[in-house]
Amino acid sequence: MKAVRFHEFGHSDVLRLEQLDDAPPGPGQVSIRIRASALNHLDVDVREGTSRFPVNLPHTLGVEVAGDIEGVGEGVEGFAAGDRVNPYIMDPCGDCRYCRTGRESLCLAAGFISFTTGGGYAEKLTCGARQLVRIPDNVSYEDAAALQVAFATSWHMLFTRAGLRAGESVMINSVGSGIGSAAVQLAKQAGAFVIGNASSQEKLDRARELGMDIGIDHKTENVVERVMEVTDGKGVDVVYEHVGGELFQAGLDALTKDGRLVICGGHSGEVVPFDIIPFFRAQKSVIGSFVYTKTEVEKCFELASHGRIKPLVHKSFPLEDAAEAMDTMERREHFGKLLLTP
Ligand SMILES: [Zn+2]
Repeated sequence: MKAVRFHEFGHSDVLRLEQLDDAPPGPGQVSIRIRASALNHLDVDVREGTSRFPVNLPHTLGVEVAGDIEGVGEGVEGFAAGDRVNPYIMDPCGDCRYCRTGRESLCLAAGFISFTTGGGYAEKLTCGARQLVRIPDNVSYEDAAALQVAFATSWHMLFTRAGLRAGESVMINSVGSGIGSAAVQLAKQAGAFVIGNASSQEKLDRARELGMDIGIDHKTENVVERVMEVTDGKGVDVVYEHVGGELFQAGLDALTKDGRLVICGGHSGEVVPFDIIPFFRAQKSVIGSFVYTKTEVEKCFELASHGRIKPLVHKSFPLEDAAEAMDTMERREHFGKLLLTP
């Protein structure tokens, strides 16, 4: 099979299209013929060696794939060759105190797609059968590849971690990103008043089409002042944060009393100053969020199957153009996911 790998950390020119031996599925595993795989910003950090995850070289990037089962290992039940599947990003141990209480994203001994298996920038992937999620018949491979990280991360952040409820207000940072545009759709579905920000009017216009009520251009407008204007001076109940840097403090300042800021990333500044006094006086909360559960992925596929949410695909590239696809992602001009379709 062909796979895109890198043997040293660096810019996109370290990527190499290579011919590898197929990895036959072991006991409890399946091999998947990949039809579409999605790029994520994490991939850039992993390639550059700044992800703070252990990476063994050579490495194949890509944590979300959609495809068909090709080979089935010993002892696998319930799945057969030809089934359309999307593997859950984690391979939880199933036995630690977190797995036993339904909180597998906290697993003490989990494997991850591309870190402990092959990656998605390839023609094939071998993973555990217990990771498999079925793709509904009316969801395409492209939409399936674009769904998991964006929507399941959003679900976990908005509902499981931040407890967003109907009638509440939420500000979603950077609505042009994959998890930003997914959060707009899920928050709207849940009956929230949705404020979003982005770096251009074009991105705000696209987010309005997805159900965003109020858009703020964070390059030209004061985010906190605008939030206070449209919430009668109260601030929002929930801030959905994944950007870091200045938007983190703006998010804290835009919260109402007893408001919750939920965060899952910080590309624009991972270490930030934090104004402690107004934070505790208004009894605000900052909530960390990491990955999501397999059940949350399945819920998002149900919503997609019913046409209630729509994964957004900006462009698909052939495997040999993986470097160009990553460069496109790093320019941040896209709206929706970038895919590789081997
Ligand atoms: Zn576990």
